[in-house]
Amino acid sequence: MTQRAAALLATLSLLACGATDRPSEGATGADSGSPRTAAPAGATRGAPGIGDPDFPLDGNGGYDVAHYALKIGYVPESKHLDGEATIRATATQSLSRFNLDLRGFEVSGVSVDGAAATFSREGDELSVTPARPLARGAAFAVKVTYSGVPQPVRGSSNLGSYGFIPTGDGAFVACEPNGARTWFPANDHPADKATFDFEITVPAGVTVLANGELVSREPAAGGGTTFSWRESHPMVTYLATATMGEFQLREGRTPGGIRNLAAVDPRFAGELGDLYTRSGQITDHWVTVFGPYPFSSTGGVVDDFSAGYALENQTKPMYGGFRPDQSIIAHELAHQWFGNSLSIERWEDLWLNEGFATYAEWLWTEHTGGDTADERFRAGHDRPAGDPIWSYPPGDARPDDLFNESVYLRGAMTLHALREKIGDDTFFRLLKTWTAEHEHGSVTTEEFTALAERLSGKQLDSLFDAWLFQPRRPAA
Ligand SMILES: [Zn+2]
Repeated sequence: MTQRAAALLATLSLLACGATDRPSEGATGADSGSPRTAAPAGATRGAPGIGDPDFPLDGNGGYDVAHYALKIGYVPESKHLDGEATIRATATQSLSRFNLDLRGFEVSGVSVDGAAATFSREGDELSVTPARPLARGAAFAVKVTYSGVPQPVRGSSNLGSYGFIPTGDGAFVACEPNGARTWFPANDHPADKATFDFEITVPAGVTVLANGELVSREPAAGGGTTFSWRESHPMVTYLATATMGEFQLREGRTPGGIRNLAAVDPRFAGELGDLYTRSGQITDHWVTVFGPYPFSSTGGVVDDFSAGYALENQTKPMYGGFRPDQSIIAHELAHQWFGNSLSIERWEDLWLNEGFATYAEWLWTEHTGGDTADERFRAGHDRPAGDPIWSYPPGDARPDDLFNESVYLRGAMTLHALREKIGDDTFFRLLKTWTAEHEHGSVTTEEFTALAERLSGKQLDSLFDAWLFQPRRPAA
């Protein structure tokens, strides 16, 4: 994620204070207290949240998703979406009942392993009671049929609008932090990664760009076109996209041989060549710095929706209504390693995504002959003691101000301070070891600091504590 302007960030931070899209504690609290009479001995309810204290109702407990198969029909003119989601999962406890996250829509049916299930809604929680309880360790498939006009999240988490956002010619779909639920039922938290199949039917002339690779593009039975995309590497829900509309495409391979797809709204037709070439060059360069590319393709999409931000959607970074410069492309493509392949288990560790992607911007600028990373670090450190980044410890990202500048800038400065302490050889070996040891996995700050200590043989507690966890400016 990259914000385009500091002023926008400040404005949105103010908006975020009162706004929340989650149901009240009362509503869900009462629900979770209902008796377990229907369940045989041992089967219990899955928790309504996955266990992230900062986002208590995001994700869900009691199961682990392996795969989402999403069949969606969307008509831009009416903004009507018809969905059928089949979610394959494994029960991690015996389950009498479990939840999915879904915002808005009319749910017309839910089944578990082919048998009709009963369900209820409360805020963004869809509660499912299978006909028979699920045993711990059981693999199961839940199918949800739903329809309606998607309701994106507006003005929350200092981000403006996110989720499935209808546009004049289609939709702009960028879901960080918890907007996947605006277009499909999900275990909507980055701690649960899964593979995805998308089968999306749209009117003739509309192009659908989802994650991974295009499997087929066929005329649909009732008219229009069905696009089938497959993301066969694990992905967090907020990185799923099905951005659609009128697009010009350029496809091929990077000089290093990685599949590359650039797409632009016709309003940005002049950017297509640059987006394609830059995305390829930068991806290839990051392979030399961060290690093997973790996915099947790279590229980027420029839509004409003025989101005011870019999001690193897996394999398809999305730029919302502006011409991306090299720095933003470098940032979003670095996220393919930091945030996408290696995903955070808790939102408080967001600096593991944004600090790394911001540091990547500095590395790219230095690589192309601009300011050095050290100059960028000094400029940041020269900010006065009263600057807001010093009172916001980036190692503990706050739910009401998740995308604070400190998480980005002070996060990147943390990495530079570490690099100075352990030296270039160890630092760059650390980056590659980090991405290799946790490829397609989930990570925490503690795991990163432990690896840094292991590879450097140095005690680094005071460095990380000063840079990540203290509400004041560290000594340089
Ligand atoms: Zn970012």
